[in-house]
Amino acid sequence: MLGPLDMFAIGVGPSSSHTVGPMKAGLEFATYLVQTGKVSRVKHIHAHLYGSLALTGEGHGTFLAVLNGLAGQHPKTIDPDTIYSRVDEIKTNKAILLKDQYKVNFDYDKDLLIHKDQFLPEHANGMKFIAFDESGEVIAEEEYFSIGGGFILGKEQIQNREESEGISGDSPNVPFPFKTASELFKHCQDNNMTVAQVVLNNELVSKSREQVYAEALEIAEVMRYSVNRGIHNDGVLPGGLNVKRRAPQLYRKLIKDDLNLVSHQDRRLLAMTYAIAVNEENAAFSRVVTAPTNGSAGTIPGVLEYYRNFYLGVTDEKIVEFILTAGAIGNLYKYGASISAAEVGCQGEIGVACSMAAGALTAVLGGNTLQVEKASEIAMEHCLGMTCDPINGLVQIPCIERNGVAASKAIDIAKLSLLENEPGKVSLDEVIHTMMETGRDMSTRYKETALAGLAVNVVEC
Ligand code: SF4
Repeated sequence: MLGPLDMFAIGVGPSSSHTVGPMKAGLEFATYLVQTGKVSRVKHIHAHLYGSLALTGEGHGTFLAVLNGLAGQHPKTIDPDTIYSRVDEIKTNKAILLKDQYKVNFDYDKDLLIHKDQFLPEHANGMKFIAFDESGEVIAEEEYFSIGGGFILGKEQIQNREESEGISGDSPNVPFPFKTASELFKHCQDNNMTVAQVVLNNELVSKSREQVYAEALEIAEVMRYSVNRGIHNDGVLPGGLNVKRRAPQLYRKLIKDDLNLVSHQDRRLLAMTYAIAVNEENAAFSRVVTAPTNGSAGTIPGVLEYYRNFYLGVTDEKIVEFILTAGAIGNLYKYGASISAAEVGCQGEIGVACSMAAGALTAVLGGNTLQVEKASEIAMEHCLGMTCDPINGLVQIPCIERNGVAASKAIDIAKLSLLENEPGKVSLDEVIHTMMETGRDMSTRYKETALAGLAVNVVEC
């Protein structure tokens, strides 16, 4: 069974499915070669990218990610400043150091194979790594699929996807198993518990309370770190679109010496600015938390920073409650739909992030479970049909601004939900189901391929 903290992963930008997942896949293949002892026979390797990874991979940093992964880097621990230089070395030397140790031939221009017109049948984000020996014989060949949020599955695992993702079967070990919103909120009502208390009790089966708190607070700290870096880092984002970072200038215009002097209108604008700051950091390959993806990494930190700065009584306890509630809501989308833009468009990224943030803010502001559910539902209801159409395949336009808008929206929705105390006509489960169906019906061109929408209608200058 998924836990609430599984919806967050500390990594690097700009994309959980196109950067974090592929880096992990490259690392997994290299580790496999080492662990099986095959690495001593490997003379050179090929890396194949398919479907969405091929179509938007360059802008999303996929090419850099797989090579850094093969070289032994993990998204959580890599120094973001070394990402480009390591690939430059690979290009210059026409060789790669597998796991930073075993030198094998790799010609960037010939051995990184981009299949823009080919999708592997299992998933839109497919990769294949092949290792050859001296005589050109294949000694290892593995396929991986980046299924969103930084999660990867191998070929066998994706055949049993639900089981592999921990979203199938019963969960007899936890006191409050759930897969749907109605099951989750029934546990809350039956036991007079908040969403955070329910999922914390589930977590305590396998971890200590201290461990859960430490992990949640580390996630919150990295979120805060990315906000702080983003509001102080001026400049132009990489990728060739010449997008100027806006967060520092916006921040300077909005901030006052005393936060209490910031008007209520400007507080929401600051939340937007915090979210924009994180996604500018994300676009610059910096350290962020997938929440639940990298494209949507700014929404939850933007709302959390707003909560920290403009409400009294914000304790570690409340921050943990925020993270656990957001994570539990994210779990519902993993169980009932998807957080992969290649499957359901931007509904699965910004829509889910907005839903998680709205529910979490409602909870820490004292909302009851009915109000938390309603906030999460409203947030997704008004993201239904949201397409993914990043210009040049870069996680910049519309992505960065969209996080700001989602943060502001989540705050308004939380406040609206706190004013009402009766169920809406649409349940959270119904909107999750609708989101999945809408995603299935959406043309592939609007699902992380940069083949439609803004991606083709905006003239570059
Ligand atoms: S448009 Fe949305 S789903 Fe697509 S890359 Fe940007 S944030 Fe992600």
